[in-house]
Amino acid sequence: MKPSKTIQDFCKNSDLQRASVSVVNLGCARNLVDSQIILGQLRHNGHHIVDMDSSDVAIVNTCGFIEDAKKESLDVIVDLLKLKKQGKLKKVIVAGCLAQRYGSQLAEEFKDIDAIIGVQRLQSHGVPDQELLTPSHFAYVKICESCYNQCSFCIIPKIKGKFISRTMESVLDEIKQLDARGVKEIHMIGQDITAYGMDIYRKNSLAALLKRVIAVTDNIQWIRLLYTYPAHITDELIEVIAREEKICNYIDMPLQHINDRLLKAMNRKITRQQTIDLVKKVRGLIPRVCIRTAFIVGMPTESQDDFEELLQFVRDMRFEKVGGFVYSREEGTLAYDMPHQVPESVKKERLDSLMTVQQDISRSLQERHIGETLKVIIDEEQKDEKNIYLGRSEYDAPEVDGLVYVHSKRKLAAGDFVMVKVRDATEYDLVGDVI
Ligand code: SF4
Repeated sequence: MKPSKTIQDFCKNSDLQRASVSVVNLGCARNLVDSQIILGQLRHNGHHIVDMDSSDVAIVNTCGFIEDAKKESLDVIVDLLKLKKQGKLKKVIVAGCLAQRYGSQLAEEFKDIDAIIGVQRLQSHGVPDQELLTPSHFAYVKICESCYNQCSFCIIPKIKGKFISRTMESVLDEIKQLDARGVKEIHMIGQDITAYGMDIYRKNSLAALLKRVIAVTDNIQWIRLLYTYPAHITDELIEVIAREEKICNYIDMPLQHINDRLLKAMNRKITRQQTIDLVKKVRGLIPRVCIRTAFIVGMPTESQDDFEELLQFVRDMRFEKVGGFVYSREEGTLAYDMPHQVPESVKKERLDSLMTVQQDISRSLQERHIGETLKVIIDEEQKDEKNIYLGRSEYDAPEVDGLVYVHSKRKLAAGDFVMVKVRDATEYDLVGDVI
């Protein structure tokens, strides 16, 4: 296997100039941006970007931070190598987090892989060539990479390396390009976007960046913040979100737990009381804010009482959106060697209980919208259903949140903003009519 730093190097070294290439993207929105940059650079170097069926070279941009994600990535690698064996592919390249974390093991185990390329290092200057993989009306903008926080259960900082922010000029230039292309909604992403600028500007600069983003956007009407870190959320940031119409009243802030001893064991740098005060402050300053959060159950040493405390916290705080995860024991993390690892069956039970409690809360919070008129962005027409469109309100991020089923006699297009009168709600979705 020829060592290659980047995919372009590999193609150059392998006489694969102008080869047709396809990418399988796995994992999170941050990985999706990496795949867009890989494709942008390949197209720039004269390669044809095609579907898997007609490609010479298949690239899988893997995810590798927890067990389930690793398994999914390995399954795709095996499938691609089968296609290569059948002569349907010439080359298979494995990129991304799994490749970065287990490069040598993968090379050992899968001799037919042609190149193993780790993660693409974020460029802090300039605007990377990108082949958008999202629908043309919305885009993810990665403003920084990795994080400082060293949560004891998380391997990402080890995979992604040193925290790096893009310069404001680099981010603003990219957003100007997206705006000129008619993009209507952008999602600001990173591992911890609330650390933005701590490296290059020596201070938390997300609020300052947002003020400048607002000033350069015309077509873009919605700016959404994904992956904030609770302990880094500043009053200035909350005020900007509250004040600026274009910034969605939506905050994605994984809390992970609420028990003080476990927050310490997770190295989350925030206490139970500080968390409660933060949530109250956010709700107090941003009326009707939608808080998306996430919790890990089954962290080593988590007792039944600790879990009950988390469950009661979720009942009391009534978050709009909750993602639940079972603790995944990852070698190379601090928590890996912690005593009192919780049995898988108990983790599963706790996750089921958490999501059952949240389901009732989610339904009742969704029902609050019945009778209201909401601004909705249309993503697509529902297949095999006339006059029904799939959309999202400012309270719904793509892929991870619910939908608004929009009934409209007039033709709508992806990217249209419409006002919708809500007439029904389920746990996660809304139903309404265009007005
Ligand atoms: S904030 Fe914590 S969980 Fe998130 S990427 Fe950083 S170390 Fe991992």
